[in-house]
Amino acid sequence: MLGIGAAAAAATSKLLTPASGSTPNYMALYHLNRAPLQPSKFLRLPPGSAKAHGWLAHQLQLQVDGLAGRMSEISDYLDYDNCGWIDPSKNAWEELPYWLRGFGDLGYVTGDKRVLDLSEKWIDGIIDAQQPDGWFGPNAVRTALDGGPDMWPHMLVLNTLQSYYDYSEDDRVLPFMVKYFQYVDKQPDTQFSKGWGSTRWADNLDALLWLYNRTGENFLLTLATRIHKSAANWIDGVPTWHNVNISQGFREGAQYSVISGDPAHLAAATHAYDTVMSKYGQFAGGGFAGDENCREGYVDARQGFETCGWVEFMRSFEILTRIGGDPIWADRCEEIAFNSLPAAFDPEQKGLHYITSANCVDIDNRVKSHHQFDNNFAMQAFMPGIHNYRCCPHNYGIGWPNYVEEMWLATPDRGVCASMYGAGEVTARVADGQTVKIVQQTNYPFDDTIRLFISIDQPTAFPLHLRIPGWCHGASVKVNGKQVDIHAASGRYAILNRTWTGGDRVELYLPMTTTVRRWPSNGNSASIDHGPLTYSLMIDEKWTQSGGSKTWPEYTVAADSPWNYALDNVDPRHIQVHRKRGQLPPNPFTLSTAPIELRTKARRVDTWTVDDEKVISPVPASPVLSTEPVEEIILIPMAAAHLRVTSFPVASPQS
Ligand SMILES: [Zn+2]
Repeated sequence: MLGIGAAAAAATSKLLTPASGSTPNYMALYHLNRAPLQPSKFLRLPPGSAKAHGWLAHQLQLQVDGLAGRMSEISDYLDYDNCGWIDPSKNAWEELPYWLRGFGDLGYVTGDKRVLDLSEKWIDGIIDAQQPDGWFGPNAVRTALDGGPDMWPHMLVLNTLQSYYDYSEDDRVLPFMVKYFQYVDKQPDTQFSKGWGSTRWADNLDALLWLYNRTGENFLLTLATRIHKSAANWIDGVPTWHNVNISQGFREGAQYSVISGDPAHLAAATHAYDTVMSKYGQFAGGGFAGDENCREGYVDARQGFETCGWVEFMRSFEILTRIGGDPIWADRCEEIAFNSLPAAFDPEQKGLHYITSANCVDIDNRVKSHHQFDNNFAMQAFMPGIHNYRCCPHNYGIGWPNYVEEMWLATPDRGVCASMYGAGEVTARVADGQTVKIVQQTNYPFDDTIRLFISIDQPTAFPLHLRIPGWCHGASVKVNGKQVDIHAASGRYAILNRTWTGGDRVELYLPMTTTVRRWPSNGNSASIDHGPLTYSLMIDEKWTQSGGSKTWPEYTVAADSPWNYALDNVDPRHIQVHRKRGQLPPNPFTLSTAPIELRTKARRVDTWTVDDEKVISPVPASPVLSTEPVEEIILIPMAAAHLRVTSFPVASPQS
């Protein structure tokens, strides 16, 4: 068995040292899809290849010191000695797998020894508890669905092991997974259409293809096809309206297209996404109105999106970026990462809430009894929420570590791709196996310039792919201070094909402009973007510790300033941008540290109120009558506002 300390060393040497005396086989290095699979456009680098700097590193550190990093102190689902994933006679289900999946990757991207050691302890215990027939985990789950196995929580464990293996190359992992899938292969087709797993088998398709690329075991592909044909049908429509099922399930067709080669299967993911978003995603932030299930008629910006939904949507977008290479998925992943994910936590990441809404002017811990939201439990206060929010606190930790891991991708043409942006660095293999290190210096998304510093031992030709976001027009690139002529169309990749030398510098300029989006199906409301960030009304927030402990506080948040404004003018030229001077704060996602403000004119709308349970009413249809005086309002990045109005009505002084 390989300890994680040794695993870390192995991973480092794997990344940094070309095999001596031979040309490394690029296919073996990054596991290109084996025949007969279709090639993917990009390849995931081993976890640990990319590190974060700046505010992104600070978010990871908050996670290490906060809820995800210390959850084993407070979650009885993570009691090692009483957990069915370690002792099959005990009970357990999805909570430990959810947590361990994000916790493991948190260790790989931060190198935090405590996190690495604890995740190794759990992984060792899970591997050691595999039974002779391949089953692992709680025995009770073997017969949980009509006498057959519930294989849903195992999907999470397998994804955990994929990352662990790519980081450590621990040789126990592949046989463990093959043996488990031999068990799955013995199940009747009908078992794949039962339980939560029925709409979430995309998670297992990922594991099956990953394992096939590393073992060549043919039965994995026939099993994947059986699952695809037996489980929920994501090809012809949307088979569930549950927000998390959608967020992780909608991509299934695209994953299956790697086996089938059918472009219609690849397109099915886009169709499913468009079907959901065109009806329920009619506001900014990247989510949709799914405060458990989508409900007919509940599409306003006040509806919430589950924290599990944020991280699962991001993960799906990352997988789709790699499979089909359409940069729109990376755009969408950034949209959630920068505008919604940090809004789901308190600023110290000691707690989170179950749902986050684009419009929300009060966060309390009371049940809403008028069916404002689909769920009938209190979902808004910030707290660890181990039992009442249950899935979200255990699951949220995958968000930032996966983001950092997927910022850089390997490319089949033996280069690297900057797929999503943020301060950090990456070490990757290029060309015939040469090691390149690229440091990314930027305050993105709060600034429009990204500088890349390249270190490589000898001059080496390889392509550097740069994603040009769909919102960006007029991107430009300099290499070593000289403008280069590239096709930097928005929503495409600019590819720099050249021989790179240590010390080379690339400067990517992604000009950000202010734009206004209108949402016709939500009363023609308006939201304001500047570059990749959406902006919300700055509302004074009154935070009250409503429970919990000093270490694990629970908070409610009340509005301490007016919020019911309609925009007086939606011409972007009348919206001013103010950048705060000086260094970017470690956590830019708070009211007081938000590094950019927008200022514009608005009028109060007295008829726009909260209901008797402090839930904001739907946005009034625009134009809305207001004869109130024109005032200047301040807007801040959406995720820095824990109370926010993001979808505004537009005012008219005349009826
Ligand atoms: Zn959840």
